[in-house]
Amino acid sequence: MRKRLRKILLLLGLIAVLLAGWIGFNTYSVWRDYLSGPPVAFLENDDVALGLYPGDYRSAGVFTNDDLCAVTPVDSIERLRAVLKRSGVRGTFFVIPNHLGENPLRPRDPRVELLEKLRWDGHEIAQHGYAHYCEKNRGRGVNMGAEMLFLNVEEQIERLEKGREILTDLGFPPRGHRCPCFSGNARTFRALDRLNYLYGSDLHLPPTTLKTFLLPAQRRRLMYPYHPFGLKLLEITSQTDPTVHKDKAIKVFKRYHRRGGVFAFLTHLPQIAEEENLARLEEFLNYLKGEKTWLCTMAELSEWWLAREGVMVRTERDDDALIITCDNPSSYPLKEIGIIFKKSVPTIERYMVADEQGRVLKKGDIPDSRRILLDIP
Ligand SMILES: [Zn+2]
Repeated sequence: MRKRLRKILLLLGLIAVLLAGWIGFNTYSVWRDYLSGPPVAFLENDDVALGLYPGDYRSAGVFTNDDLCAVTPVDSIERLRAVLKRSGVRGTFFVIPNHLGENPLRPRDPRVELLEKLRWDGHEIAQHGYAHYCEKNRGRGVNMGAEMLFLNVEEQIERLEKGREILTDLGFPPRGHRCPCFSGNARTFRALDRLNYLYGSDLHLPPTTLKTFLLPAQRRRLMYPYHPFGLKLLEITSQTDPTVHKDKAIKVFKRYHRRGGVFAFLTHLPQIAEEENLARLEEFLNYLKGEKTWLCTMAELSEWWLAREGVMVRTERDDDALIITCDNPSSYPLKEIGIIFKKSVPTIERYMVADEQGRVLKKGDIPDSRRILLDIP
């Protein structure tokens, strides 16, 4: 009897271990960023640490808005624009080129004029699918708006191109894309990459459901920009809507902020333009402005990250001076990046930063703050 009990317990233990392993495998993308840190070539060595974002920002925060299209009430765009202007926060608008395939944005539409004003304010205009609708979804128990869900690569390319053409003809060539209803998948990444988009923001945080735990998920990152399947496309995961889930938004932001992550938060037109939502948004923006987080557009963040991820730094000591060599293999410059001198080298009093060709970028005495800002071309 005892032997049998032991056998049962052993079997149950084995099942528990296998189940834990299986769940760990399925949720790899959720916990990997916490273990591995930001995926950059150089973070720090014994002498110096290199800032992850410009200036003394510790993380990045991106305001994003979805669904502006030819049927959006004009006054809702105007109200949202006014709040963003008052807050001094710029972000990215993901615009539907041809709503339901029936309402394309056209020149002289007051919404197109507003897009121009938004760009004038410093916002980025990017692409949100083509129609935000797909006939193939009918009868499959999914949202009809989840445009890319069942489309193959070629079909996705066709829609992306048609949508991009509409926006380009209006004067807004998009550099980034977000899938309607976050219907992005591996095929979307390949389609965007083939069409040379700078970035995509095609996936949302995974829901905390049994399915998330028990079914294998796509390999991806949540906290940092990443290259799916090693493509040159940069993907940036979208986080939550702070006007719907304020507590969750602040909790996620704090967690990411501590680890130098990217908090790309989500809003929708026209809902966001309701008075109480705008008040919540303004409150959240003011909260972010009080933190050392870089509030920027998706394109600005992407260019920065494409440079920052590849920068290599070498240091060597020469008497009382530290010689720092920075190599930025990307075509994007890093403006106002911070170098922090570690306290472990107290005998060093001067520094010189040079690029790979030996050109001096900056030199001088190590300041009391033990921190300098410079541009790496
Ligand atoms: Zn949408």
